[in-house]
Amino acid sequence: MEPKIKKYDLLIKNGTVHTAVESFESEIGVSEGKIAAIGKNLGHSERIIDAKGLLVLPGGIDAHCHIEQESSSKIMTADDFYSGSVSAAFGGNTTILPFAAQHRGQSLRDVVANARKRAKDKAVIDYGLHLIISDPSKSVLEDELPSLIKEGYTSFKVYMTYEMLKINDGEILDILALARKYGALTMVHAENNEIINWISDRLTQRGYNAPKFHAVSHSHIAESEASRRAIDLARLVDARMLIVHVSDAEAANSILQARNNELNIYGETCPQYLFLTAKDLDQEGMEGAKYCCSPPPRDKESQKAIWKGLKNGTFQVFSSDHAPYRLDKSGKFHAGKDVSFNKIANGVPGLETRMPLLFSEGVGKGRITINEFVALTSTNAAKIYGLYPRKGSLVIGGDADIAIWDPKWVRTIKQEMLHDNMDYTPYEGMKVKGWPRIVINRGRIAVEDEKLKVERGSGKFLPRTPAETCREQPISSPLSPSRNFGAKLL
Ligand SMILES: [Zn+2]
Repeated sequence: MEPKIKKYDLLIKNGTVHTAVESFESEIGVSEGKIAAIGKNLGHSERIIDAKGLLVLPGGIDAHCHIEQESSSKIMTADDFYSGSVSAAFGGNTTILPFAAQHRGQSLRDVVANARKRAKDKAVIDYGLHLIISDPSKSVLEDELPSLIKEGYTSFKVYMTYEMLKINDGEILDILALARKYGALTMVHAENNEIINWISDRLTQRGYNAPKFHAVSHSHIAESEASRRAIDLARLVDARMLIVHVSDAEAANSILQARNNELNIYGETCPQYLFLTAKDLDQEGMEGAKYCCSPPPRDKESQKAIWKGLKNGTFQVFSSDHAPYRLDKSGKFHAGKDVSFNKIANGVPGLETRMPLLFSEGVGKGRITINEFVALTSTNAAKIYGLYPRKGSLVIGGDADIAIWDPKWVRTIKQEMLHDNMDYTPYEGMKVKGWPRIVINRGRIAVEDEKLKVERGSGKFLPRTPAETCREQPISSPLSPSRNFGAKLL
């Protein structure tokens, strides 16, 4: 008797599959939004995608983006959950992890409810939410955070700089210790606030106000010092921690060293540190404001160090840090057009260009392998942020989140072709080779033929799983203190 031939909702044929660990020729069968089969001669389907000459990859996860988020100076990012998620999808992403940001005095619960409401009827692909904690009050630490972690908000960002967001070292320790207890992950923006203010004051007193001085004020020493300090704080309480948007060679070295010492420290970097330098800020008038982000783009040597870090295990995650502020009163120039560098809104857009840039310059130029590309843009984020194996890989039973890349598609990046709500891209005019042709989220074709195929609001919220909570540390003899004494005081 003939075996019954299985019928799939979607079948991808003739492509080469690439995961974070291997590459192989295979078909992929999709049923009910999940990957149902991986193999040869899988059978029939209503819809067959012929991926001949194309690369079949897990959909990207942009684990750091600011969407429909209000800043502490009350300006709103240019992208809401619709334009942000659409732009992400066109760039090969199937999941985004933006932030629910707490400002001082706000309840975290309210902040989360508000972000959920904003996302619900707009997002077109799946999303989770990190938290931003700027006010670790008693009720936040004892009540709100523990319950929110259990509900799937398993990561939170803290700031060591920005007057209205920064928390002090003691507060960071409180948060790290709490994260350790509940299996959550602390993300840190590591820059020394005092160093930045000290330099900024001296620059502005002397009349050095142009955008290019932003890069001078955010000295790389401010970043390396704060990164080392953050690592030591995490080391003291034996907590997992991820340093976001690393731009500097010394900071990268500290992360690698910590990892080599078996600390649970992770590192993230972004396109702006591979493709921009401080020279981009040095332009006529306010043009340089386009490239003002923190930490700032640095120099060619730093770019080399960051590329090296992508290869040698310093960085696990490559994110956009998409922080879209238009070149007008609603964004970059909220404090006026003729202001000094430290009054310009910080951030660059990059949701849609993140993966094509890394693909073209990384995989295309032989700096990283395609498997490393998948790990850096998708799989590692899923693992670190509690979405694996549902997201970030191509496994039977996992969500059918797939990006089908055309490695020969040459495009010159122009703002007009992007789908965000911005009025510029820092990568205008850059020629890239390789872009996704078809993007699939939970089996639904999200992008095809350069068109959006999914409905507004059809993306799903993703509650995430905490890491295995840390075991109680045995209290050893005070005569033989363990390397992380602080962990015993939790
Ligand atoms: Zn940041």
